Amino acid sequence: MADFEKTGRTRVVRKPDRGRYDRATVYAILDEALICHVGIVEDGRPVVIPTAHWRDGDRLYVHGSRASRLLRAMGDGAEVCVTVTLLDGLVLARSGFHHSMNTRSVVIFGKADPVRGRAEKVAALRAFMERLAPGRWDELRPPTDKEIAATEIMALPLVEASAKVRTGGPPGGVPPTTYAGGAPATPGGPVDAEADYAHPVWAGNWPIIQSMGEPVPDARLAPGIALPAYLRHGRG
Ligand SMILES: Cc1cc2nc3c(=O)[nH]c(=O)nc-3n(C[C@H](O)[C@H](O)[C@H](O)COP(=O)(O)OP(=O)(O)OC[C@H]3O[C@@H](n4cnc5c(N)ncnc54)[C@H](O)[C@@H]3O)c2cc1C
Repeated sequence: MADFEKTGRTRVVRKPDRGRYDRATVYAILDEALICHVGIVEDGRPVVIPTAHWRDGDRLYVHGSRASRLLRAMGDGAEVCVTVTLLDGLVLARSGFHHSMNTRSVVIFGKADPVRGRAEKVAALRAFMERLAPGRWDELRPPTDKEIAATEIMALPLVEASAKVRTGGPPGGVPPTTYAGGAPATPGGPVDAEADYAHPVWAGNWPIIQSMGEPVPDARLAPGIALPAYLRHGRG
């Protein structure tokens, strides 16, 4: 899989050591995040809309009502900028200035193509459901023609994209195990001004961990329905 080419607009300028262009990094972020933000320019003004996404191969998919402004604009050929963000921790430094966040994010530019044809749309929606709950699509009441017709699906080719990743430690990208001089480095920790390390305040990485909770059955669940395997094991 070829890396993404650094273009005039995807080359990370601020903290370039955190930029990543390999598809493995970009796709892992896209696949872990459940939502993205899609930015368009409408009547000369920017609009950014949060929405769910999924990836299949080298395409990122979003869907929604045919009446959705965003999907209509994308269908009309609007240029989009899609961002995806994962927040891994708060980085508490010894000065306000050096506080940070451990993050993994992706920025994508491009134009999306509509997914046309019933079979193609059903395949895309199946891929979406399989990403959320593997095996669930086949358990569901099949979609009606009316539901499929009312659902717009757009596929954005993953051609122009970048990732930016903060894992902590000094510039260089890979988190070090020690700083110069042998002092241990904290994974995801702050990078303070040398003179501040003696300052008597707690500093470090405050991890943020997202997880699925206990499934709550619907009050109108049909009798005799066992918890499916994908809910017993949670999302991987
Ligand atoms: C959760 C989160 C919180 C953040 N908080 C702050 C903050 O408070 N202050 C702050 O200054 N910055 C913050 N950042 C970093 C921010 O996303 C930008 O990278 C930074 O502000 C530099 O912006 P720029 O337009 O000058 O970047 P440039 O380096 O000029 O951007 C050039 C190109 O690099 C790529 N790029 C830039 N940023 C990212 C990114 N995050 N992910 C993927 N590709 C990218 C894009 O293709 C962009 O067009 C945060 C990032 C995340 C994910």
